[in-house]
Amino acid sequence: MYKVGIPRSLAYFVYLPLWKTFITELGHEVVESPPTSRDILDRGVKEAVNDACIPIKLYHGHAAHLAGQCDLLFCPRLVSVRKHGDFGSETFCPKFLGLPDMVRLGLKDLPPLLDTRIDLKPFGSGNWEVARDIGQRLGNSMARCRRALRLGMAAQRSFRSLCQQGMLADAALEAVFNGVEPTRQTGTKQDITIAVVGYPYAIYDPYINAGLIKILQQQGVKIVTQDMLSERELNRQNRKLPKTLFWYFSNRAVYGGLHFMSEGQADGLIHVTAFACGPDSMVDRLLEIEAKRHGTPYLPIAVDEHTGEAGVRTRVEAFLDMLRYQRRRR
Ligand code: SF4
Repeated sequence: MYKVGIPRSLAYFVYLPLWKTFITELGHEVVESPPTSRDILDRGVKEAVNDACIPIKLYHGHAAHLAGQCDLLFCPRLVSVRKHGDFGSETFCPKFLGLPDMVRLGLKDLPPLLDTRIDLKPFGSGNWEVARDIGQRLGNSMARCRRALRLGMAAQRSFRSLCQQGMLADAALEAVFNGVEPTRQTGTKQDITIAVVGYPYAIYDPYINAGLIKILQQQGVKIVTQDMLSERELNRQNRKLPKTLFWYFSNRAVYGGLHFMSEGQADGLIHVTAFACGPDSMVDRLLEIEAKRHGTPYLPIAVDEHTGEAGVRTRVEAFLDMLRYQRRRR
């Protein structure tokens, strides 16, 4: 039995149910890094290349934290996860494509990486090929892989379904793994709905966004995110743009924003954008233009290693005050 480390960053917030269930059902132990802390962030900033975006630095910090605590580090090369329709050229951002190399070269004393390539685009490739590769590396039989994959996919479907019922991803993860009774979002007032879009690793890591979600909840706001939408709802937005972006998570953020604005489901839109992110320079501009066109108030919040709670709280509170003021005047 191996101890397999999974860093709590990047695709963790989207694929943990599948990955963790699959590895556990193969008979191995999964070790997750703890929630982001100042130590983890500082370590990542120190070890990663200078011009990396903050989520990649953070990933280095989480990976470094796991060194010495696991036999293998799960660090897949995420290339693509869909091949249908207009998404023929879509991939994950280049940082995801080179992640195992960056981590291997940037960090010393790491255990071997489980760096399976996840590229579902080529004809004939699919989840089974990925599962078989991981299972072979972990010394498991094909029969066990098949069963573990089936259970992993079921866990992933439960997670998605909870998100689509309106749960935030962190609460949905709690519900899937710890059997916690699903709690719907409640607030004192919930008079305003805010769409929060962006990369899952920026939205759901409370340390890096300085507690944005909690601040909104304390303000009695109903939060919706792109992860609460079905693939169909998201993909429908793709037809409204002359061209899609090349990157999977960027497209999801844009489509999510477009959906909430065009369906009139949000009083305001917040884009959580990562400092030094190349794709975000386009995502942010696109959302800003579309927000103007739809007449939806728009607040971009850029996160980096210096983001502090006071700054985020002040901007969010001012944004909400403005929305409530506008509403009173109507
Ligand atoms: S999409 Fe942006 S924030 Fe995410 S890994 Fe790529 S460069 Fe970094």
